[in-house]
Amino acid sequence: TPELAALSAAIRDVPDFPKPGILFKDITPILNDGALFQQTIDTLTAAAANHMPNKIVGIDARGFIFGAAVADRLGVGFVPMRKKGKLPWQTLSQSYALEYGEAILEVHEDAILPGERVVIVDDLLATGGTAAAAAQLISQLNADLASFIFLIELEALQGRDLLGETTITSLLRY
Ligand code: IMP
Repeated sequence: TPELAALSAAIRDVPDFPKPGILFKDITPILNDGALFQQTIDTLTAAAANHMPNKIVGIDARGFIFGAAVADRLGVGFVPMRKKGKLPWQTLSQSYALEYGEAILEVHEDAILPGERVVIVDDLLATGGTAAAAAQLISQLNADLASFIFLIELEALQGRDLLGETTITSLLRY
């Protein structure tokens, strides 16, 4: 569609960030443009609404921007999943593999109730390690993961394969 083409055109490819050899998709030009940002949130919200969530989870840090806007549109709660040591209350933790080494994702233990329907929102699906860790935290909380929603999916990295049977929506695929 013309809308998705405009979104795709706004995304900036930055070579060698944050490390040599990485081509980073910079989504900040979308945030910078009121019409594009609004249209992005419209589309992400429509995808999330299909799953009738009780909570939207956003992943540190760009997932907060998109996820919080979607939660506001739907009138449901927003749950930040953060890198280790950032959340002040009691947390559950899940470690996951990075390209080199590992990282830990955390969530407040009272942020999602057992049985709640959750949609995970993030800006980009790469290897899938981050999103899989988020899904494991939801499972630790005995909640029900309804869907993953991403702005961008880097298909060559096959992140989908780590995410099991849960529905995945991505607006732009490269
Ligand atoms: P994964 O765990 O390999 O799927 O990496 C996904 C996470 O890394 C997401 O939280 C993204 O925000 C971030 N990420 C990885 N590559 C990029 C990129 O090219 N642009 C923006 N974020 C990225």
